[in-house]
Amino acid sequence: MASRDIPASVPSSSSSSFAQSGEEDDQALYYGAESGWVEARKSCNHLAASLSPDLTHIPSPASFCNRCEHPKENWLCLSCKEVLCSRFVNKHMLQHYQQQTNHCVALSYSDLSVWCFACEAYLDATAIEQLRPVHETAYILKFGEAPPFIPGGVPATEGTTSSGTS
Ligand SMILES: [Zn+2]
Ligand SMILES: [Zn+2]
Ligand SMILES: [Zn+2]
Repeated sequence: MASRDIPASVPSSSSSSFAQSGEEDDQALYYGAESGWVEARKSCNHLAASLSPDLTHIPSPASFCNRCEHPKENWLCLSCKEVLCSRFVNKHMLQHYQQQTNHCVALSYSDLSVWCFACEAYLDATAIEQLRPVHETAYILKFGEAPPFIPGGVPATEGTTSSGTS
C-alpha cells in the first residue's frame, strides 16, 4: 500500500504545505522598514523645546522663501515661523536648522507633512497632539476648509438648548 505521495525530502509535518499559499502576507512588509517606506513617527522629543508658543498665527502657505524668494513648496519653521525653501531648491530651511539646531521641526507647505531635522523623520501631525493645531491651521489656510479628521474639535451646533430644568 502506497500510503504517501509526498516526496521523501519533505518533512512529515503536513500542515507546512499550506503556508506556501500565504504569499499575500508579504504585502504587509511594504509598510515595514525593508522597502524604503518611511513611517511617520508618532512622537518626537524635540517638540517641547522647538515649537513656537503661538502657532495659531502662521504665514500664508503661498509665502515666498524669506531668503531667495522661491515662490512655492516652501517650509514653515515651527519655532520662529520663518518660511524657507526646501533642500531641493536652495536648502534654506536646512541651513536654518544647521544654524539654530533647536529649530528642527518644519511643516511643508506643499503637502503639510511635518519633518523633524533632529529625528530625520516625518512626524505624524494628526497623531501628535502638539502638532495637530498647527497642521489644522495650515490646512485651513491652504484649502479654505477644515481637515476632515478633527477629533472632537467640531464646534457644537447641536444640543445648544439643553435646558436642565429641575
Ligand atoms: Zn530659499
Ligand atoms: Zn526657525
Ligand atoms: Zn524630533
